[in-house]
Amino acid sequence: MAAIDGLPPLREVIQTHDLVAKKSLGQNFLLDLNLTAKIARAAGDLRNCDVLEVGPGPGGLTRGLLAEGARRVLAVEKDARCLPALAEIAAHYPGRLEVINGDALEVDVSAHLTPPIRIAANLPYNVGTELLVRWLTPPEWPPFWQSLTLMFQKEVAQRITAKVGDNHYGRLAILVQWRCDARIVMYLPPEAFQPAPKVHSAVVHLTALPEPRFPADAKVLERVVAAGFNKRRKMLRASLKGVHPRIEALLEEAGIAPTERAERVSLEQFCTLARLVARG
Ligand code: SAM
Repeated sequence: MAAIDGLPPLREVIQTHDLVAKKSLGQNFLLDLNLTAKIARAAGDLRNCDVLEVGPGPGGLTRGLLAEGARRVLAVEKDARCLPALAEIAAHYPGRLEVINGDALEVDVSAHLTPPIRIAANLPYNVGTELLVRWLTPPEWPPFWQSLTLMFQKEVAQRITAKVGDNHYGRLAILVQWRCDARIVMYLPPEAFQPAPKVHSAVVHLTALPEPRFPADAKVLERVVAAGFNKRRKMLRASLKGVHPRIEALLEEAGIAPTERAERVSLEQFCTLARLVARG
């Protein structure tokens, strides 16, 4: 029986094209088109947007994005075995799906996309984290994208959205929340994937703010936060010793007790401290 978009069900697509999942490429496919449609809806209003999808695989999420009305989808897939399945989707949605066969960590997609741009992906977790950090640290802000809707291991999603005082609060929360609104929009059990991974997953949705929540130099903030959380159980006056020769005085000027630990310092306080450090 054809699926809701008139294309064959994903299980059939995988059989037809013999897409046996490869562990080396982190292939855990989503086969439920209701679920992929739900993830596509979580990406926001796609109708006037180009969507960059990384790692489309057999195309479950790709089909969701197109059915939800994305103006165009640019899909970057490393595994050439997936190309025939993706070509069938492209033929079903003429002029709306472009596929690049390549490594998303190497391909330059900028010439292929027209703003506004949203990004959506169900990626292997290591690639996803690396791309997330790249997308969050462009040479200039605002970035080329409006929003990111990404599948992560549940614990990484919790680190992205953690607030000060939470167990998962750290570098990633600060890097993300300094310039984005971030929330978990969905939790998925291992059985949602084929084959089932060992861990639970979650989809996070990030919206780029027009400018950072609090002023700070990106590099200085990153240096202060990295040093603070590198030794997260240590008091800041010790963990930040290498950051500035008068760090204790600067901490006090920022309203942070030098005996405090990084996990109890808010984003705003880190930004204040980064400004004082940058002042010299
Ligand atoms: N999006 C599909 C889905 O939801 O069913 C597939 C998800 S699977 C977790 C990850 C996909 O990313 C695979 O198709 C894999 O081949 C692809 N992939 C892995 N590393 C990649 C990379 N560096 N660049 C582009 N695609 C990659």
